Amino acid sequence: MAPWLLLFLSTLQPFEAVEPHMGTLVRVKLYAADERQARSAFRAAFDRIKELDAILSDYKLDSELNRISQNPLKISDDLFRVLAASQKLAEQTGGAFDVTLGPVIRLWREARKNNRLPDKEALREAGARCGYRKLHLDATNHTAWLDEPGMQLDVGGIAKGYAADEALAALKRLGIRSALVAASGDLAFSDPPPGKRGWKIGVGSSGRVLELSNAAVSTSGDAEQHLDADGQRYSHIIDPATGMGLTSGITVSIVAPHGIDADGISTAVSVLGFERGKEFIERSFRRDEVDMIQ
Ligand code: AMP
Ligand code: MG
Repeated sequence: MAPWLLLFLSTLQPFEAVEPHMGTLVRVKLYAADERQARSAFRAAFDRIKELDAILSDYKLDSELNRISQNPLKISDDLFRVLAASQKLAEQTGGAFDVTLGPVIRLWREARKNNRLPDKEALREAGARCGYRKLHLDATNHTAWLDEPGMQLDVGGIAKGYAADEALAALKRLGIRSALVAASGDLAFSDPPPGKRGWKIGVGSSGRVLELSNAAVSTSGDAEQHLDADGQRYSHIIDPATGMGLTSGITVSIVAPHGIDADGISTAVSVLGFERGKEFIERSFRRDEVDMIQ
């Protein structure tokens, strides 16, 4: 490496900031020339995440996601990208990943709040309003619509990974090349820290340490959100086949080129389980593209 390049690299300093977004804390680490550059970079990254939350949130009544109904609605590039990736994943996993589970997910949220299992009849009724085949996208007109009233979309299994990707892109536009964005279990990385091979991150039950750059890693499990009832632990991740929270206790990490992929795949593999999850990954991706860590 040329000596002048080393000098240039060593002038970059590490900075870190945390803000609450998308119902969690989002952490950004980056290397910048000075505090002024770092500050404007943090603002751009967090503003981009805030903008995406306003589009993708199922909590915000007026989000673009919540405005999709039976009439075809022209939607933003961001929403289209997230829904298209979701529907592709639904097809690839035989519906294990399903962003139309909103009505069922709401019952489980309520159940966690009340510390009581959802009513069986209510679950059955809500389940009848779900199904990824009832969500339609038209790539030519950039529209989306739903088959039935009473449907509810929930992109909680994929949106944070996409937001992490887009925050990195916002940083890159401001000349920040080395950064990490972590939205709870969803992390995305751009270039390595100056002089390093990658960003070090511990994953999996064995605490394996990965060194990642220009990649993403997502972890799904029941560690943070769950309901303990009848001697079982029910995850916030739902098996679309039964409408029930997962009870397998699975925690899985997925490494992929982009956060949108790592996030969606980790949720999908949680539903499929390790064995079927591994089969799905081997069938759908190149070996050097997606990695699963138990
Ligand atoms: P993650 O932490 O990325 O695994 O996402 C979990 C979130 O995804 C849940 O809180 C729900 O909002 C949503 N979700 C639950 N079950 C599913 C499913 N089978 N397919 C897609 N999204 C789901
Ligand atoms: Mg996910």
